[in-house]
Amino acid sequence: MTKNKTRRLFCNNCLFLTSHDCLYCLTDSEPVMSRGQRVDDWLHYWEVYKCRGCGSVSFRYYLSLGGDPDIATEEYYPPRIARKTPAWADDMPGEIQSYLTQVYAALHANSRWLVSCGVRSIVDSVIRDKVGDQNSFKDGIAELVGEGFIGKKEGDHLAVAIDAGSASIHRGYTPSEKETNKVMDIVEHLLQATYSLDAAAKIVKAHTPTRKKREPKKK
Ligand SMILES: [Zn+2]
Repeated sequence: MTKNKTRRLFCNNCLFLTSHDCLYCLTDSEPVMSRGQRVDDWLHYWEVYKCRGCGSVSFRYYLSLGGDPDIATEEYYPPRIARKTPAWADDMPGEIQSYLTQVYAALHANSRWLVSCGVRSIVDSVIRDKVGDQNSFKDGIAELVGEGFIGKKEGDHLAVAIDAGSASIHRGYTPSEKETNKVMDIVEHLLQATYSLDAAAKIVKAHTPTRKKREPKKK
């Protein structure tokens, strides 16, 4: 068991590379055989790390071949996240909140096909909630724009995200990590514009002192 090792790792809370102290490390080896001869060893490492920035604890497993510095397999628990669940996710209506929770779980597991399909369902839910059942996504987006929930440009962006989701559902398309993040930018913008900012504006309005009416000038 080796500990007291420090390593730079991505922290899910800090959202950047931070110094982590190794609290516990267990290693094991497994012989690699060829024609009855031991030619190398697979080395397994199980490590528990604590972030020096926020104190969060994570688990890392990795596998390497003998003295080869290249890591063959590397896994983390919790998985390293690409995107943090926004604070306003709790403001969403029940169905959308439930879809969102599952979409972020899929993001954390790098299940990009599931994210793409999930985003399409979220948009469908927003359309039904705000402008009622529509014949197509195109009509739904047009209604969202027409009713002033989003602008024309946001509507065009949303159509692109829906196309990606449809391609995933009907043609098995898996977007890249970069594309997935762009799709998430678009859907997060939609949800903020249609739900979260409304709620925020109401809170600000309720706490803003009203302007006193000016007394008419005495003649
Ligand atoms: Zn941290």
